[in-house]
Amino acid sequence: MTNLIGLTQDQLYEVVRELGEAKFRGKQIYEWVYKHRAPSIDHMTNLPKDTREKLKEKHTIEHIKIEKILIDEKDETHKFLFSLNDQNTIEGVLMKYKYGYALCVSTQVGCKMGCTFCASTLEGVVRSLTSGEIIDQIMVVENHLQIRISNVVLMGSGEPLDNYDEVLKFIYNVNNSNGINIGQRHLTLSTCGIVPKIYDLAKENLQINLSISLHGSNDFIRSKMMPINKRYPLQQLMEACKFYIEKTGRRISFEYSMVNGVNDKIEHAKELEVLLKALNCHVNLIPVNEIKERDFIKSSKDNIIRFSRYLNDIGIPTTIRRELGSSINAACGQLRRNHTEKPKG
Ligand code: SF4
Repeated sequence: MTNLIGLTQDQLYEVVRELGEAKFRGKQIYEWVYKHRAPSIDHMTNLPKDTREKLKEKHTIEHIKIEKILIDEKDETHKFLFSLNDQNTIEGVLMKYKYGYALCVSTQVGCKMGCTFCASTLEGVVRSLTSGEIIDQIMVVENHLQIRISNVVLMGSGEPLDNYDEVLKFIYNVNNSNGINIGQRHLTLSTCGIVPKIYDLAKENLQINLSISLHGSNDFIRSKMMPINKRYPLQQLMEACKFYIEKTGRRISFEYSMVNGVNDKIEHAKELEVLLKALNCHVNLIPVNEIKERDFIKSSKDNIIRFSRYLNDIGIPTTIRRELGSSINAACGQLRRNHTEKPKG
């Protein structure tokens, strides 16, 4: 059986062609799946009964399931644990902002990138998600809470550029105005810096936001925090970023987790100045998430403010990320880890 969730409009045109149906039926099915959220093929009431029967022979609608929801009472951040059809679990985080709801979605079960501050990678990667499993995180949250999500961030567990084809398919599909219709400028892809894939993405000429996990101001610190830096050191990464900005005309945002005594001194801000000064970019400072498996301690408020002031003063726009969901361990990987760690039986 093929799950209709995840198929693009073009793929549905192909499905109806094979069923011997007119092309417009493909668009109708697309709208039922993504816009009207039909729970089953039988709900597609503008399709003739025999078309539905033919479609049902090889197709189905099967959503991922919400296993658990944790809600931060203070800021209404919701953390979701989803189970996939093969019983693997992933996480998503819904954040409420003034402009609406943003959902942080996962792109892989686990992650192989080994960033030392991240709980998603502690057991490596299990598998990549299909584009359907990525898009369905949005649909099940919207259906469950009866809300409309305006922004999506590919920043949950997994490295999106390590699942390039499915992530691109997801971007085009979620952007389709006959379906979920989230504008490209409302999508953010966050990467640890897989340089060749940044070049590939630049050539797609999308208008999405690209966010780079930087976290280290020199190769020594960054390689310690992010093993990917040994493969693609900062100079190569910066060249790729420059190419991306020139090609797409978009500003890049750099995420920088502030770790006490590791990367939060003014000397590090000065190194960032050299790296980023010539780029059209923005820096987002994040007090590092403290996870029990690692001994990172977040920087003091004073250090973060001093760091931010330095960068702003020299002309690199810098903001400090608000910590949402702090009472529910909203950092990626933590809920799944607690879930899979539970003794079975
Ligand atoms: S921070 Fe992102 S890329 Fe790094 S290990 Fe975690 S999920 Fe993977």
